[in-house]
Amino acid sequence: MPVQESIIFTPVRIPRPEHTLSRSKISQAALSVLYQLQKAGYQAFLVGGGVRDVLLGRSPKDFDVVTNALPEQVKSVFLRQCRLIGRRFVLAHVHLNRSIIEVSTFRAHHAKGGDGVIENGRIVRDNVYSNHIHDDVWRRDFTVNALYYDIQDFSLIDYVNGLADLQSGTIRLIGEPLLRYQEDPVRMLRAVRFAAKLGFTVEPATAAPIFHSGGLLAHIPPARLYEEVLKLFFSGHAVESFRQLRKYNLFMPLFPYTDACLGDDPMAMALIEQVLTNTDQRIAENKPVMPAFLLATLLWPPLLRMLPDRSLPTKEGNQQELLIETVQHLLTQQSRHVFIPKRVTTLMQDIWLFQLRLTGRSRGKRSLRLLEHPCFRAGYDFLLLRASFEESLKKFTDWWEQLQQGDENIRQSLLPNHPSPSKSLQRKKRKKKK
Ligand code: ATP
Ligand code: MG
Repeated sequence: MPVQESIIFTPVRIPRPEHTLSRSKISQAALSVLYQLQKAGYQAFLVGGGVRDVLLGRSPKDFDVVTNALPEQVKSVFLRQCRLIGRRFVLAHVHLNRSIIEVSTFRAHHAKGGDGVIENGRIVRDNVYSNHIHDDVWRRDFTVNALYYDIQDFSLIDYVNGLADLQSGTIRLIGEPLLRYQEDPVRMLRAVRFAAKLGFTVEPATAAPIFHSGGLLAHIPPARLYEEVLKLFFSGHAVESFRQLRKYNLFMPLFPYTDACLGDDPMAMALIEQVLTNTDQRIAENKPVMPAFLLATLLWPPLLRMLPDRSLPTKEGNQQELLIETVQHLLTQQSRHVFIPKRVTTLMQDIWLFQLRLTGRSRGKRSLRLLEHPCFRAGYDFLLLRASFEESLKKFTDWWEQLQQGDENIRQSLLPNHPSPSKSLQRKKRKKKK
């Protein structure tokens, strides 16, 4: 069924006095892009999250502009401020006032004809440009994301009853849901993300196919899924996103090894819920967050499971090698689902190795050196997180806490007969000079 047959409304134009989207809520950079396109003789609209979030009284993450100008024409308006990106979907990025405004050209949905390329129901190329806004609307995902703000007269254009859905808090796919998920399975993750972020309800026909379509995510490049995972867990609604992912059976295709632990390991669930809660809280307080820390926590339960005795190795000898081998094995398997970049996995491995170091027997002068290690904070915080569920770790966290708090004298009493780090540093320097 062509997508536009299942949901047809007459487009409604809402004049400026009848809606609440004020220009003062749109960034200067986005306004400037809209005006410059208009001045060059093109149509220009704000669309997507920028319109949706402003109408909801929230601050948008970014502003997306759509126009009838082709990418090359956009480039000729903004010249060196503009970069064309993407091969599957060519977009223009306009760099203004230290922000990036994404400008896309109207595209027709493949069901409207043209040469959009579909393989096994999936869109693999989508550069079917159109001159008409009414073509563009059908390729958008949800009705609340398909509201257009026209810079020419400041009116809103609503083709798919998006305003009503915005008011009732409804996530509704445009078109036939299963087909739209097959075209691009990431839309399932987007449904979950918007439901979590906005506190909206996914309407039944949009929700129904998701429960049994998680397998479609296997067709998505794992690097794209990593970007989606970051959006799900680092937009301030990680707890709710996780809950919804689990509800719709979407967590399993992303993190199958973690998912396998959640059924019978209440501690794993508690640990993960806690790290997600902490992440949301840090974002609410504008504190920095570290993907490596959250991912190290998510993958900790399956890591333990893969180790002999299902726990950190404690025997003397090659315990570190054993841990590294297992980490590499887990990360290789995991990267087939969600690809975690090397800079992040390196940190994750460090955080995990620190669990051995911070609970090991030898706490001599090496301990003082560990304090200066760039990964100490993350490793120690992870130990703290674990200790809130494992009483037996308390003695280690207390010990490290004292070591960090203490002045030089306390450090010396904790580490009898060991030189202070400053002395050992001096000695190292002297050696170097020689
Ligand atoms: P936010 O920026 O807050 O994450 P958004 O809705 O603006 O939300 P973007 O990823 O910035 O999301 O995309 C901008 C718009 O492009 C969306 O609102 C939607 O109309 C369209 N869009 C993005 N991704 C898809 C997709 N996978 N399928 C269909 N339309 C999409
Ligand atoms: Mg956006």
